[in-house]
Amino acid sequence: MKNTRDFKNIFKTLFRNIIVYLFPPQCPYCEKIIDSEQILCDECFHKIHFIHAPKCYWCSVPLPIETDTGEKMLCAKCLSKRPLYDMARSAFVYDIFSRQLILKFKYYDRTDLRHILVHYLLKAGIDLFDKTDLVIPVPMYWLRRLKRQYNQSAVLAELLARKIHKEYNGSVLYRTHHTESQTHKTAKERKQNLTDAFQVRNAELIQGKRILLIDDVLTTGATAESCAKVLKKNGAKAVYVLTMARSVKK
Ligand SMILES: [Zn+2]
Ligand SMILES: [Zn+2]
Repeated sequence: MKNTRDFKNIFKTLFRNIIVYLFPPQCPYCEKIIDSEQILCDECFHKIHFIHAPKCYWCSVPLPIETDTGEKMLCAKCLSKRPLYDMARSAFVYDIFSRQLILKFKYYDRTDLRHILVHYLLKAGIDLFDKTDLVIPVPMYWLRRLKRQYNQSAVLAELLARKIHKEYNGSVLYRTHHTESQTHKTAKERKQNLTDAFQVRNAELIQGKRILLIDDVLTTGATAESCAKVLKKNGAKAVYVLTMARSVKK
């Protein structure tokens, strides 16, 4: 019996080594071979601009280092008008490097990257998880999802919910119609573009709940605010936002 188990274990280790030898782990960004415990190669890792303190307590935009008082600080935008969501956190600054990573995940069928991205989301959103009851993604219009095959935010939200042991719902919030790409729009145009774009089905599922909304990039915050507005109108107690990246005005 023991011999059979030993034989099985030896076979398993051998098999694993052959797989690693044939398909060595690669840096998802530059495809250089990396160690199995590495996430990105050293060179690419140093190109990521992680967001850390000092940052705005509400929207998480990085603040100039000299303003760091160790207290809860707010950026000028949040000071002039509080966002409709309660707090937003992002893992890294949206720049040429993080854009590549997100594009690969979004359009090149690289859902395997979800593990790396969720690893960073877990770090970035650490102060939100205790306050979370339900995790939901920013929805994609159903026709678009059919074409794309997956909603990248839903892939991340589902895995993250599992990791933090919270409930997940991928359908309670939905898009009522296709909205044009927000990329080249001004803040005002973004808001107009999103008017009535989101709706809640089965509002009883979010009553009194603190929701963690997952998206890929926070730009002006218009999408996050539209979702937060409709979720709160339908009974959500709080809406927190967690994204992979957020843009930072130079
Ligand atoms: Zn690399
Ligand atoms: Zn802010």
